[in-house]
Amino acid sequence: MEYVILAIVLAVLLVGGVIWLGLVRPRRNLPRGRTTYGPGTEPEATGQAPTATKPLPVTEAPSAEAPPEAKPEAKPALDIERPPPSAGRLVRLRARLARSQTGVGAALLSLLSRDRLDDDTWDEIEEVLITADVGVAPARVMVDELRTKVRVLGTRTPDDVKNLLRDELIAQLNPDQDRSLATEPHGGNPAVILMVGVNGTGKTTTCGKLARNLIGDGHTVLLGAADTFRAAAADQLQTWGERVGAETVRSDREGADPASVAFEAVTEGIEKKVDAVLIDTAGRLHTKTGLMDELGKVKRVIEKKTTVDEVLLVLDATTGQNGMRQARVFAEVVNITGIVLTKLDGTAKGGIVISVQRELGVPVKLVGLGEGPDDLAPFDPAAFVDAILG
Ligand code: GDP
Repeated sequence: MEYVILAIVLAVLLVGGVIWLGLVRPRRNLPRGRTTYGPGTEPEATGQAPTATKPLPVTEAPSAEAPPEAKPEAKPALDIERPPPSAGRLVRLRARLARSQTGVGAALLSLLSRDRLDDDTWDEIEEVLITADVGVAPARVMVDELRTKVRVLGTRTPDDVKNLLRDELIAQLNPDQDRSLATEPHGGNPAVILMVGVNGTGKTTTCGKLARNLIGDGHTVLLGAADTFRAAAADQLQTWGERVGAETVRSDREGADPASVAFEAVTEGIEKKVDAVLIDTAGRLHTKTGLMDELGKVKRVIEKKTTVDEVLLVLDATTGQNGMRQARVFAEVVNITGIVLTKLDGTAKGGIVISVQRELGVPVKLVGLGEGPDDLAPFDPAAFVDAILG
């Protein structure tokens, strides 16, 4: 009898062992899980500028709900940042501006401080201004003005020279122009801001930074990714928006109709009662007619719902005369209400502020001074000139 019991116990232990080895052990040996993402996707992008990360399956604005292919546990919740207000930012970013521009300021100050200001010296002053992209005609005007003032002044102390140049540069920047952005809702509708410009100038980045500025200043914002010709642009915009809690209306289809995305964005902005809708557009300068048709259509469909309050032209300050040519084409195609000059941190050609304002008769309203999220500043002529003169 004992043998029978012993045999049964051994049999049970044997079967139990086999089951444990076969089922439990292999599970423990599974490699440790990596967070998985949908096809073609990557974990959160790092670095300064947001980049494309994951295709979204739907046309609609991403909502607070996770898209189907990204399981909640697969993507850590994004912390919504609270951006700082934008007032006085140009003064805070002064060092960055000064780094790229002081060469120009120092050269002008040193030339104007010479004991004798002969024709050659005035030619040199004009040359420095032209090299800094002030433009030939404005440079000549400035030299004439400075010449007259120096004559009236007689002897010059270094402070006199600095004040003289400061006043002249500020005057050339039209300090009295209204540089405020129309970002307040009106008649129950959000303010609509259209961002236009050639691809690569920093349009999408500026849209994202501007959303941050507005949110930092207490507004609610919705983004429209109407640059449908570059898939990465919508991802990029969405990432900027997610960081500050702004929704993005986008299309999942590359090459989708930009006007319909813009229309959707404005419709949703009205429904959600946001203060401002920012719309990024594609800037393919293939032909002027193509551009005109595209931007015209975007504007027309928005106007079925509400007014377009700002059309901001984004220009890359490092592109000099090429940028000026782009500015002219866009100005012929749409009614530009303000200019955003990007990449002023990377060039000593700050004089483009003077030439582009003069050429288009429209004020520079914002300047980009870096790739960081808070590197977009409202333009302030006096702070700009002070940074140039050091
Ligand atoms: P888009 O094609 O016009 O939408 O251009 P993007 O927004 O994709 O920007 C093109 C590149 O310019 C990106 O690498 C941006 O980080 C960079 N960029 C944009 N604005 C600035 C700026 O003010 N300063 C610097 N240094 N880089 C900028």
